[in-house]
Amino acid sequence: MSNEHTFWFNEEHDYSGSSIGFRVTKKLHEEKTPFQTIAIYDTTDWGKLMTIDGCMMVSTRDNFFYHEMMSHPALYTHANPKNVVIIGGGDCGTLREVLRHKSVESAIQVEIDERVTRLAEQYFPELCESNHDPRAQLLFIDGIKWMAEAKPESLDVIIIDSTDPVGPAEGLFNAAFYATCLKALRPDGIIVQQSESPLAHLPLLTDIRNALTTAGFESLKTICFPQPCYPSGWWSGTMARKRGKLDAFREADVAAKPFATQYYNLDIHKAALAQPEFLKRAFGG
Ligand code: SAM
Repeated sequence: MSNEHTFWFNEEHDYSGSSIGFRVTKKLHEEKTPFQTIAIYDTTDWGKLMTIDGCMMVSTRDNFFYHEMMSHPALYTHANPKNVVIIGGGDCGTLREVLRHKSVESAIQVEIDERVTRLAEQYFPELCESNHDPRAQLLFIDGIKWMAEAKPESLDVIIIDSTDPVGPAEGLFNAAFYATCLKALRPDGIIVQQSESPLAHLPLLTDIRNALTTAGFESLKTICFPQPCYPSGWWSGTMARKRGKLDAFREADVAAKPFATQYYNLDIHKAALAQPEFLKRAFGG
């Protein structure tokens, strides 16, 4: 369907020589914050679309892949996750998924730019439905600073739900930052870093893994999943564990999970642990 009332929002991705486009009817909002430029569009087929500095962040229709896969695999791998921190995550979709876990006693979201959350509340209210959960705490400060000052061995899971490693997020992708995460985690703690596209950003993905190892994490597991609005449409999260493995998880609890999901389930979790051949080779077997 195309008529004179529609146009295309295209995100050109120089790094991979590719682009992704959504047909839109209207730009609903745009503002420049002290950190970035945020825009909101109304699309013909994907609901609302948020972009940050021209990069697609979240759409109404396809955000569930990312929010579910950045939260449930790690939370069901941990034996009993109580204290969770999300760095970034301003659209609040990851926070909503974390709070579906009854074992979680506190979920702190550390987002540098309050305007992302305020616009998410306005244009993606369904992602923000858990923001007033008594276990949730929304902080609007730099995650790098927050983690550097976090109490040692106070956290079970850390989710780095950040923008790409440029601008304010650049310092979230290095060994120095991961070392502060390691210190803040309890011995069986797990970090999940959004680790970009396995196809379009493989050198960056291997850098992330190497930095996690340098920081002292014992085991790594990159899980891949579809994400239509991100470059190549195929994304990843890299889990790392302070001490212990990442292959086994609470299968019975996943099978009996008391909340609905759109993508994540027992088979998807098992499948995500399988590594494609080119990644096995890239990760040194
Ligand atoms: N799912 C998206 C992706 O993979 O690109 C990320 C969603 S969320 C909107 C990313 C958030 O990270 C943004 O709201 C941005 O403001 C936040 N962010 C970037 N650098 C940060 C930092 N140093 N501390 C806290 N939040 C940060």
